Amino acid sequence: MLTTCTSGPNCICPELGVSCRIFAWLVNEYDTMLGEKHTRGRPRVPTVSLMTGVLLMFKTGMTTRMAAGITKIGKSTLNTAFTQLTLLLRNRRPIAQDGAEMTDENLLKYLREMLETGELLLLDGTGTECPRPTKWLDQLMFYDYKHHMHDYQTIVLTSEFGEILAVHGGWPGKIPEWDAAWHSQFIEIVKEAYTKVVTDRGFRASHPENFIAAKGQHSTPQPGDAEITRTRAENERAMSTLKNFKIMERTRLAWMKHHYITNVIAFLATLKQFEQRVAWL
Ligand SMILES: [Zn+2]
Repeated sequence: MLTTCTSGPNCICPELGVSCRIFAWLVNEYDTMLGEKHTRGRPRVPTVSLMTGVLLMFKTGMTTRMAAGITKIGKSTLNTAFTQLTLLLRNRRPIAQDGAEMTDENLLKYLREMLETGELLLLDGTGTECPRPTKWLDQLMFYDYKHHMHDYQTIVLTSEFGEILAVHGGWPGKIPEWDAAWHSQFIEIVKEAYTKVVTDRGFRASHPENFIAAKGQHSTPQPGDAEITRTRAENERAMSTLKNFKIMERTRLAWMKHHYITNVIAFLATLKQFEQRVAWL
């Protein structure tokens, strides 16, 4: 499988959190979306530079100003590219191990298969610290009283092998985890498949009929505890894959953007995982 990297001999794709092939694909997608857009006589900034700048922001969490400085493009040009790429990929879903995108139908199919084979499904949430919002109302909404910081919630649904099945990001820290999960786009599918889900105590309290006990529910060890501990570790791994994109913790963004950006990250991260898996075969 020959890879031609669009960013040339000084390729920094791995440092941007993607492979050369995914980078080339992004450049192509962006160009296709832009089409023959007029530039009012000015030369157009190379898409390779734009995508490098955008991915720098995603991967390292640096500000638009810094990324623009490094890639030597205008701050507002880069900001536009950032918004456009996010809009382009915002509705993408994670890529499954077989390369299928986790649309609602695919997710339902997956969950039903998992139920048949007795595979565990995990639901876990994490708070990602964010800078203190400037607006007073946002400060109230984003303050997480449980973790004593401003953060927002990311809910991740994984298989027992740590495969990311669905993510839901952007709920302000004040909202309890289970409440955020209950407003996610995938929870209806989980309920429809009637899959038992491994979660922590907080989730279980809200809808006990759908959930099985996680570790920490019993004072004495129970059969199956070890397996649940192992699968929870796998979920942690999936979570850290997402957190590898530092934009989650640094940028001052509106919550709707957090939601979209989580989708973009999950898409890119799982696309990369799929590509690596295929390369092994
Ligand atoms: Zn490359």
